[in-house]
Amino acid sequence: MASGEAVQGCRVDLNGQVALVTGASRGIGRAIAVRLAACGATVAGIARTVEGLEGTLQAIREAGGTAEGFAANVGDPKDVARVVEEIEAKYPKIHVLVNNAGVTRDGLMLRMEDDAWQEVIDTNLKGTFLFSKAVGAIMMRGRYGRIINISSVSGLVGNPGQANYSASKAGVIGFTRTIARELASRNITVNAVAPGFITTDMTDVLPEKIKNEVKERVPVRRLGNPEDIADLVCYLAGPGASYLTGQVIAVDGGMTA
Ligand code: NAP
Repeated sequence: MASGEAVQGCRVDLNGQVALVTGASRGIGRAIAVRLAACGATVAGIARTVEGLEGTLQAIREAGGTAEGFAANVGDPKDVARVVEEIEAKYPKIHVLVNNAGVTRDGLMLRMEDDAWQEVIDTNLKGTFLFSKAVGAIMMRGRYGRIINISSVSGLVGNPGQANYSASKAGVIGFTRTIARELASRNITVNAVAPGFITTDMTDVLPEKIKNEVKERVPVRRLGNPEDIADLVCYLAGPGASYLTGQVIAVDGGMTA
């Protein structure tokens, strides 16, 4: 894709911008990375292994986009500092940060092991903090930024069996609203997207019976797909969304309406 050439069908122009997407190896993160690249952004994708990112990088490159993969555990401060340094050495400005990496370790609260609590909080909430802090400093210097945090409807309403996950995703919402206020004067917007039930590896493990029950509860009568989330993220990442900050937008087929 030649620089300055808008991608067909993409209304958001991200040419000349660098977007960092965590959890870009599959599911929602892959769809976001592919979409941002299709709109012209150079994508730095993060996952625990570079091998895991190959499929995403290939999809982007085959479509004519530019992307590179970096390995890091988002919950590890040293890993995050190292990888952001590596990315900054190659791309001095980072315009878009999507904190998408996330895990579940479901179980009822009374039976939940401490490490299941900690892993989910570290990945989903601490990871969002660590990347926002490191990349936020780069955005401050550039006086421009778009931070988009992937929360969940489980952070808006309770979900039995997900005390750790709900707490992490509700935490992401509080974090988003606060840093939106802290960074607004520097031309950096911060928003959260709260997906409902989206078909990915994360939800594939659930029994068919549960999936059908969820479908019954969704007013639009279908489960979401990763592109449903990527479309909104792409809009929030664009220059047109400059007056939208500190918001939490549920993309859930009307489930929480
Ligand atoms: P997924 O298919 O399981 O993908 C999770 C991604 O996160 C993978 O790329 C994984 O990469 C990465 N990841 C996990 N732990 C990591 C760590 N410690 N360090 C770096 N990367 C890590 O999940 P998904 O369904 O696409 O979910 C993406 C986001 O949307 C998550 O935050 C999730 O909570 C949220 N969400 C999903 C749904 C849904 O219905 N699917 C609903 C609401 C919210 P590697 O394994 O390759 O490292």
